[in-house]
Amino acid sequence: MAAAAEPGARGWLGGVSPRSGSPTSSPELGAGSRSRSGPGSGPGSGPERSGARPPGPAAPSHSFRKVTLTKPTFCHLCSDFIWGLAGILCDVCNFMSHEKCLKHVKTPCTSVAPSLVRVPVAHCFGPRGLYKRRFCSVCRKGLEALGLRCEVCELHVHPDCVPFACSDCRQCHQDGHREHDAHLHHWREGTLPSGARCELCRKTCGSSDVPAGVRCEWCGVQAHSVCSAALAPECTFGRLRTLVLPPACVRLLSRNFSKMHCFRIPEIAVPEPGDGEDSADGSVPAGPGREVGAPESGKQTLKIFDGSDAMQRNHFRTVTVPHLARSQEVLEAALRAYYIPEDPQGFQLQALPTPAQLGDTVAAGKVWSSGPAEEEGGRVAPQAWVLRALPRTQEILKIYPAWLKVGVAYVSIRVTPQSTARSVVLEVLPLLGRQAEGVEGFQLVEVLMDSRQVQRTVLADEEPLLDRLREIRQMSLRQMSQTRFYVAESRALAPRVSLFVGGLPPGLSPQEYRSLLDEAVATKAALVTVSHVYSTQGAVVLDVACFAEAERLYMLVRDTAVRGRPLTALVLPEVLHMKLAPDCCPLLVFVNPRSGGLKGRDLLCSFRKLLNPHQVFELTNGGPLPGFHVFSQVPCFRVLVCGGDGTVGWVLAALEDMRHRLACPEPAVAILPLGTGNDLGRVLRWGAGYSGEDPFSVLLSVDEADAVLVDRWTILLDAHEAAGGEDSEAEAEPPKIVQMSNYCGIGIDAELSLDFHQAREEEPGKFTSRFHNKGVYVRVGLQKISHSRGLHRALRLQVEQQEVELPSIEGLIFINIPSWGSGADLWGSDSDSRFEKPRMDDGLLEVVGVTGVVHMGQVQSGLRSGIRIAQGSYFRVTLLKATPVQVDGEPWVQAPGHLIISAVGPKVHMLRKAKQKPRKAGPPKDARADGAPAPKGDPK
Ligand SMILES: [Zn+2]
Ligand SMILES: [Zn+2]
Ligand SMILES: [Zn+2]
Ligand SMILES: [Zn+2]
Ligand SMILES: [Zn+2]
Ligand SMILES: [Zn+2]
Repeated sequence: MAAAAEPGARGWLGGVSPRSGSPTSSPELGAGSRSRSGPGSGPGSGPERSGARPPGPAAPSHSFRKVTLTKPTFCHLCSDFIWGLAGILCDVCNFMSHEKCLKHVKTPCTSVAPSLVRVPVAHCFGPRGLYKRRFCSVCRKGLEALGLRCEVCELHVHPDCVPFACSDCRQCHQDGHREHDAHLHHWREGTLPSGARCELCRKTCGSSDVPAGVRCEWCGVQAHSVCSAALAPECTFGRLRTLVLPPACVRLLSRNFSKMHCFRIPEIAVPEPGDGEDSADGSVPAGPGREVGAPESGKQTLKIFDGSDAMQRNHFRTVTVPHLARSQEVLEAALRAYYIPEDPQGFQLQALPTPAQLGDTVAAGKVWSSGPAEEEGGRVAPQAWVLRALPRTQEILKIYPAWLKVGVAYVSIRVTPQSTARSVVLEVLPLLGRQAEGVEGFQLVEVLMDSRQVQRTVLADEEPLLDRLREIRQMSLRQMSQTRFYVAESRALAPRVSLFVGGLPPGLSPQEYRSLLDEAVATKAALVTVSHVYSTQGAVVLDVACFAEAERLYMLVRDTAVRGRPLTALVLPEVLHMKLAPDCCPLLVFVNPRSGGLKGRDLLCSFRKLLNPHQVFELTNGGPLPGFHVFSQVPCFRVLVCGGDGTVGWVLAALEDMRHRLACPEPAVAILPLGTGNDLGRVLRWGAGYSGEDPFSVLLSVDEADAVLVDRWTILLDAHEAAGGEDSEAEAEPPKIVQMSNYCGIGIDAELSLDFHQAREEEPGKFTSRFHNKGVYVRVGLQKISHSRGLHRALRLQVEQQEVELPSIEGLIFINIPSWGSGADLWGSDSDSRFEKPRMDDGLLEVVGVTGVVHMGQVQSGLRSGIRIAQGSYFRVTLLKATPVQVDGEPWVQAPGHLIISAVGPKVHMLRKAKQKPRKAGPPKDARADGAPAPKGDPK
């Protein structure tokens, strides 16, 4: 069973039984057991170490020693306080443990973590921020000052620890590089609330003081790191199972697209303090780091570089050693600073500048190596050193199969000066049981597992491997510990990238879009096909059969404007809908990050982490269309819209446009109301506005909600004349259609909300995309409205073709839902023999009048209701002069002419929050892997 070989812990490979890899052993099968990196051993067993070696079996490659505690300290294993003055500390990664806990430590040291990553997946770091009560995954210290976090997993790191974080992010899609395999828990350490309970032993496993305990990034199961090894490794996605888009069902091939591009996360160019040094490849300078400061007396601080790359960029780490330190001690400290677990015997420190650099061979270039004879004590040493690996005539290298092989994580082989990529493949195939297939079908792939990007390089058959290893070490020793070699099938992976391009003029034919793009960005005809055209939305999806062309188009499109409008480009994943489980009804999440202050942005981040980031869409980044396109073949899905009424209307309108192209034509829509208003959210019980409820509970409520039908209305706006006058083009404008789900107001209520500037600042996205896109705003300025009162004289109303006499009013409002203007009941609850009791799904609208601002205020405060005028399903309003109109809270000035309101199209399926007892906050109980869905609440 895979469990034995891949305990699943954090997605690491291998077991934990330490093995002192024998340098003489011939090819060794690394099945399940993790040898320390080849011959020799790590710093833990180096020739001499300061401090006593702790008792008990060696923990996973930590360099433990006994230390005297000078302040209150907690154990990273059991999270309990360490009583007494003695603790056990890892010199490399700062893991702190009770002496009694030591023998149970399974958390690997940072120095070996890269070798244990199961499937290398790069992280996706957002801007620096203050993350309290979080711990750095590299050095295990708290993030007191600015830190970085991954946007899609719970990894937190110090800025200068980033280069040492390994690429162990969640695998959210298939990328064509490794066959699909069982979905396992993805453990992440130290992000648990302090009350968290262990899934196995039911005792507290979280702590706010130290990074103790692990949590699965997918299902939320929490456990002690020790206990997690005893849990079944397969992850069932827990309580959110039916909402999550499983990674095995998403495919995205990308080469140089960053994680940000793949998850459509806009890179926010916020100038960060002290960030000027960031290099082009996105790496963060490794030092001088947080340890800078005047060294204690008797000590000196040295700059250490790990290779030519670091020297070129002037990225160094610092170590502080006693002035009297022996060369061996300095070398070990330097290796620790770079988290290099190998034997110091293989390394040396060269003083900088090197004599060669000075062009002077007699300069005092010194060498600190582990040689026994040297004695540096007492002398003033140069301040900067470069850490170099000594040349090796052979070494043991782990080769990983790029396919799932149960029980085998890697095989170890000996690399000699004669070894080439081809000879290595030849040697490992029999060990992996694939010799029968012939060496031609395989290749050796070098994979650099950087925390920000995983880079794959296919090695040429004749490439001498030992030279390649030397080259990498020369460039960067850190990079060497993050490099892994895979033997992979060499069948060429046909590149295929789906590129969404939005912001094009609407209403063109496929050929016209094609030539427009040829003109704007010179698409290469042989490589690019237009696979989908959304002409009403002015968007197309391109199918690009070449990575370089896809990357070029992506960058160029985002820099291009067509007819004065900037284009949008998004890389879209493909949902493998055939693979979806029959009971899976994934949630398509739309978030308007501009709604409700900063809450939208926080929710985006939370939902990306709780679900698959591929199912979460930011509305200001291309609108709702990309999300519906990605989900178009999903047989059953649900939608969650996070935003105000305008945002909900925007998504519903896009859904209406897309409906006929969806395999699930009637997805039910839930609302997480942000901002103010939220009338639809209120009547569907989602509340008046989001106030910080746990996003996990929000998702549970969505899963348990009941589907209800709500009528949808269309309003045809047919202006008789161009109200703007000066713009003659407007006269020729055809009638416009807008959709409405809540209400439509004519007159005073629209006028009051008619403050374009304020509204645009609050939600610019909806203005540019929902109505404005369609040219709905008729070109009339506010100053054109005549302020003579008496709306009933300025318009005529027909209900079902019958003229209706209007009382003296200033506002006429058509209502579909029993909530208007932030929760007011405009119709009122009195029964009335003339009308049916209003319902959201009866195919009828209620028409109400208000006499002015005072009356509106009375309705708002519940003292009065509106004047009931009519109920019906087909209305014609004739505006005799330019009049303010609002639909679902979005106002504009409508030119004289007709407004025809009718129920066209199917009713929309909305999710109404089930009535239930208040849920106990927090996931500990709910996150249980197999909680069955709660019984549906509302009997009605
Ligand atoms: Zn302990
Ligand atoms: Zn350690
Ligand atoms: Zn750190
Ligand atoms: Zn991550
Ligand atoms: Zn899990
Ligand atoms: Zn436990």
